[in-house]
Amino acid sequence: MRKRLNALLSVIALLITVCGGSAAGAYTAGSYDVAVEGFGGEMKVTVTFSADKLESIEIGEHKETPNIGSNAIEQLPGKIVEFQSLAVDSITGATVTSKAIKKAVEDALVAAGGDVEAWKTAAIVTGPKEAIEETADVIVIGGGGAGLSAAVSAAENGASVILIEKTGALGGNTVRAGGPFNAADPARQAALPAASEAAMASVYALAEVEAKSPEHQAVMDQLKADLAAYEAGDKTYLFDSVALHALQTYAGGDYIGKFDLIQKLTGEALATTEWMAGNGVVWKDDISTVPGGLWPRTHVPAGSAGGDYIKAGQAKAESLGVKIILECKGNELIVENGRVVGVKAEKTDGTPVTLKANKAVIIATGGFAANKEMRKQYDPSLNEELGTTNTPAATGDGIFMAQAVGANLVGMEYIQCLPLGDPDTGALNGWMGAIGVEFYYQVNKEGLRFMAEDGRRDTMTQALLKQTDSMSYVITDTNSEGEDGINLWGDNVEDLVAKGRIFRADTIEELAVLISLDPAVLRATHDQFNAYVAAGADADFGRSLFGDPLDTPPFYASPRMPTVHHTMGGIEIDLMGHVLDAEGNIIPGLYAAGEVTGGIHGSNRLGGNALLDIHVFGREAGKNAAAEEAAK
Ligand code: ADP
Repeated sequence: MRKRLNALLSVIALLITVCGGSAAGAYTAGSYDVAVEGFGGEMKVTVTFSADKLESIEIGEHKETPNIGSNAIEQLPGKIVEFQSLAVDSITGATVTSKAIKKAVEDALVAAGGDVEAWKTAAIVTGPKEAIEETADVIVIGGGGAGLSAAVSAAENGASVILIEKTGALGGNTVRAGGPFNAADPARQAALPAASEAAMASVYALAEVEAKSPEHQAVMDQLKADLAAYEAGDKTYLFDSVALHALQTYAGGDYIGKFDLIQKLTGEALATTEWMAGNGVVWKDDISTVPGGLWPRTHVPAGSAGGDYIKAGQAKAESLGVKIILECKGNELIVENGRVVGVKAEKTDGTPVTLKANKAVIIATGGFAANKEMRKQYDPSLNEELGTTNTPAATGDGIFMAQAVGANLVGMEYIQCLPLGDPDTGALNGWMGAIGVEFYYQVNKEGLRFMAEDGRRDTMTQALLKQTDSMSYVITDTNSEGEDGINLWGDNVEDLVAKGRIFRADTIEELAVLISLDPAVLRATHDQFNAYVAAGADADFGRSLFGDPLDTPPFYASPRMPTVHHTMGGIEIDLMGHVLDAEGNIIPGLYAAGEVTGGIHGSNRLGGNALLDIHVFGREAGKNAAAEEAAK
C-alpha cells in the first residue's frame, strides 16, 4: 500500500514539475533584464526564456559580499535552470542574495507570461545517486580555515587528502570574519608609537600575579626580561613580545585555558603568518587592535577579510591535489579495532558517502553558536532572540561525532558574545570602525559611553546588555572609511548609508539628530573622548588604547547589539592535535582543529586569537596526521 502511495506521489510530483517548469509554448521567448535589491544594493539580472523553458540566468552588476553572497550567485542560477523551479533551496549563509535571485526570475517570469505560482511549487525531483566510496590517507571534515589549513599541511607533508564540506561553499565562520590575526611581530610593530602609561601598567601587572604553574612563572620571568630589554632602549616604538601575548591570552580567559596550548598558539603565531603568506595570503603591514584583542598586534589580510584565507587555502589545497567534496555532511566516524579509520557522510541529495582514511581523520567542523538548543543547554543565559555572527552550519556536528567515539569535551559552558552585532541579522559586517578599537567609541541610546571599548569581549557584552534595549552606536570618523569607499568587510560604504544600516553626517550634532540622540549630550561625550585621546588615559572607564582624535568629518554612527559569536569549548586535544578521551588517552586515528576544539581560550577568547588558533592547530594536525603509520 505504501509503495503504491509513493508511486502516486511521484506521478503527482512529476505532473507539478511539468506544469510549473518547462511546458511548450509557456513563455514569450526572449531575454529579460531585471533589477532587484540584493544584500549589498541593486543587482542586475538577465533571464532568458525559450518558448518552452528557462534557458539561463546571468547575474550582471551587483554589490553582494565576496565569498558569501557571491556563493549564491555562483550556485543558485544553475540549480533554478536545472530543476526549472523556484522551490530550490536557498544557498546556506547567503539567503538574502538567494531571495534576490529568485525574485529576479519571478519578475522575468511575469514579463515572459509564465506562471509564477507554479514555479514556486514545482517539485525538485532529485534523489540519492549511487553510493560513493573513496579512500585517502587523510580525511578532513569541514572546509573553514582549520579544515583548509589541515588539508594543505597534510598534503604538503605527502598525504593524499579528501576534504568534505557540508554546505555548497568553503569558508564557514572563517569567511565571515574580519580577518584579525594576532602575532607579536617586531618588524611591523616598530612602526607603532609606544603604548600609554596606563597600558604599560597593565603589562607590568601581568608579570606579577601568583603563578599557576612553574611554566606560568617561567613565562612571567620571560616577560620581565623582555620589559627590561625594552626599558634599556629608546622606547619610541610599541612594546610587545610572545610572552605578553601568552600572558594576556591566559589572563583574558581567567587562567582556565591550558597553558601548554596557549604557549604553542602564541609561540607559533609569527611563523604561521609566514606559512600562510607562502600559501598565498597577502598581509597588510598596518597593525591595530581588534575589539577584545587587548593589544595592537592584530594583522589583517589585504583583501576581503576572512575570505582571503579561504581563497588562498583553497587554491593551495587544490594545487597540492586535495580533493574537495562540497554539499557532503560528515555524520559518523568509522572505528575498526579501536582506531578511527574513516567517516560516513551524505551528500545533500541523499547519496551515501563512505570515506576511508589510511592514516587519520581530522575534525574541523567549527563551533556551535548557530545551534540555539545546544548553546542554551550549556549556557542558559543565551536566549533564543540573540542573533549570531555565525554561519547557520555551525551546529556542533563534529562535537557529536567525536563524543560518539569517546572524546572528552572541555569548557562547553564558555560561549562568547560580542557587543558589535548587526541589530537585524546579528552579523559582524556592515559597520564603521572595524579597523581597530583605537578608532572608535561606543555610546548607548542616551548618547553616553558605558565601558572601556578596549576591554574583554565578555565584560563589554555584559556592559552593553545593561544599556537601554541593549542597543549602542559606534561613533567614528572618516578614517574608518577604508580604501575606495569599501570598508574592512568589503561593504560599500555608500550603500550602507543609503540603506540606513549606518549613519553619516558632517558634524557630531547632525549625526546625533540622525540617530535620535540629544546633540548637546553627544557633543559633550565626543569632546570628552577626544580629550581622553589627547591625554592617553580615560578617567571614566579606564580605557588605555587610543589612536588619533576623532575630529575629521564625515562622522559615522553604526548601530550595534550583542550577538553570539564563538564557542570556546569543544573537543579536548593535545599539543599535536590528537583527540583525547576522558582519561587523557589519544583516540587513535583521530585529530581535531579549530573552533570545534576546546581548552585553549579558557572562559573568554581574545579577539584575533581564533584565526590564529585555527591556522596554528590546523597546520599541526595536518602535519601529524600525514605522519601517522597507515592502518593495517
Ligand atoms: P574553523 O574556524 O574552526 O575552521 P569554520 O566555521 O570556519 O570553523 O569552518 C567549519 C566548516 O565546517 C564550515 O564550513 C561548516 O559548514 C563545515 N561543517 C560543519 N559541520 C560539518 C559536517 N558535519 N560535515 C562537513 N562539514 C561540516
